Amino acid sequence: MDIEATVIAGQDICPCGSGEKYGDCCLGQGISYGLFECEGKRVIFNVEETNRAIENLLRFLSDEISALYDDGEMLHIEKATEKLGTVYELLAKSVAPFAQNSPCQKGCTPCCHHIIETTPVEAEMVRRSIEKHPDHSAMMSLVSRIKKNRQHYPPPVTGNRKYDNDLQASYFEAHMPCPFLSEQGACMIYEARPLLCRMYMVFSDPELCRIGDGMATYEADYCSQVYTGVQSLSLLVYRNLKHRRHLPDWFVNEFNLMG
Ligand code: SF4
Ligand SMILES: [Zn+2]
Repeated sequence: MDIEATVIAGQDICPCGSGEKYGDCCLGQGISYGLFECEGKRVIFNVEETNRAIENLLRFLSDEISALYDDGEMLHIEKATEKLGTVYELLAKSVAPFAQNSPCQKGCTPCCHHIIETTPVEAEMVRRSIEKHPDHSAMMSLVSRIKKNRQHYPPPVTGNRKYDNDLQASYFEAHMPCPFLSEQGACMIYEARPLLCRMYMVFSDPELCRIGDGMATYEADYCSQVYTGVQSLSLLVYRNLKHRRHLPDWFVNEFNLMG
């Protein structure tokens, strides 16, 4: 859904918590609030602060990624993962007012059986994160979970192609949990999780996500620019490597984790 903010009226109680009317409180300080309601939840956010966070994200994507790509520059993978980390941080700030009201928090995993289309730099970030994982037996379990379903992982996609909807639906219905879900049912790589896992945000009961019925997903206009920026980041490192894979498939076909 698109986010349409309704400006708070002057006689409404001010969202800052002062107990005063908005017209006698933050309005006088030039602070405007937006309100959006979905699935019975009221999300009130500071419009300027949110817009500023979105602008910071878009500026970074344009100045620090797209501009380099347009100039024909190349990036070392080290630098690229650093920039990806900054994109993730700026993205988290831009969605913070909405994320607070969404059940999509650390530990919530009912949606974790989709195809997770991932660029090489995102996958490298995950590889680095599991390389540092201190628990050897957890790593062995991860490898065996990846091996178990490897024949079901879809082949990579290139260029502007996406995994087609039928393939995505049948993969989802097969209900194979993401192998990065630990035996305790937690994401083992939460801090390094790829973009798709960060962009999926619902406001309905998380149990609905288990059956693909999660409602009122956060989908603002700028989301497509984030996908493009993250994709360009990989092209800055691997000019000729344009494919994207389902996250665990990188560990079958590109990274030496399987032994
Ligand atoms: S990487 Fe983590 S958040 Fe993403 S699908 Fe897998 S377990 Fe879920
Ligand atoms: Zn106020």
